[in-house]
Amino acid sequence: MNALEVDHLSYHYRDGRAALADVSFEVREGERVALVGPNGAGKSTLLLHLNGLLPERAAREPHVTVFGMPVSESNLLEVRARVGLLFQDPDDQLFCPTVFDDVAFGPQQQGLSVHQVRERVTEALRDVGLEGFEQRMPHHLSRGEKRRVCLAGVLACRPGLLVLDEPTSDLDPRGRRELIALLRSLPVTQLIATHDLELVVELCPALILMDRGRVIRQGPSIELLSDEGLMLAHGLESPHILHHLDGRDR
Ligand code: ADP
Repeated sequence: MNALEVDHLSYHYRDGRAALADVSFEVREGERVALVGPNGAGKSTLLLHLNGLLPERAAREPHVTVFGMPVSESNLLEVRARVGLLFQDPDDQLFCPTVFDDVAFGPQQQGLSVHQVRERVTEALRDVGLEGFEQRMPHHLSRGEKRRVCLAGVLACRPGLLVLDEPTSDLDPRGRRELIALLRSLPVTQLIATHDLELVVELCPALILMDRGRVIRQGPSIELLSDEGLMLAHGLESPHILHHLDGRDR
């Protein structure tokens, strides 16, 4: 089954700017797919559509389907239970006085019992390596810790599709390595918008390249990232790790 289907999706912001133009692609269940492209390509706008955060103006039929369920006004609660969206800026996601409350928020919205919520929070904090952080204040944590709290909050909802917007931006090398290891260990379907092309090589077998609101190419990451002409044409560079792999640096 497809975890995600985007079918001829276009989107204009209120100022009339076309941010997405006829975008179509699919992500199969269990896949880990990278979404890359220069600034302004439309990646964040696309991700916001995946759990209905942006209304599809003038759309009579839904253009996004998750696990067979159309993303539409009438089933937003179900959609949001299945799609876990990790924002680019953790400060946009954290709003409770304690880490516990922040991570518990999603499971509470799902109507779970107090006991179940506590279990979910404990497990999610353990998964992201933040055991014992329950009573800490989110805004006093480091950037990397905040990001992990956000991820715990998303994981605590047990989403089928994890959508991440620039998960490694502003992490230090250790924080980045830990996050990559964590994402690799999660069996859930993942769509990762990122400028970190080394992460793509390590984590994502498949890649979608966007520019100016359009999908330019979709295919195997190594193949597309190795195409220097393609990368340069869209404001990107082939990652160094690939040069080392095929010996071009020697
Ligand atoms: P990316 O995430 O790939 O950098 P975005 O989705 O943020 O791209 O932006 C796509 C386009 O939409 C850009 O031209 C950007 O300037 C525009 N855009 C993004 N957010 C808004 C907004 N809130 N209002 C108007 N235009 C926006």
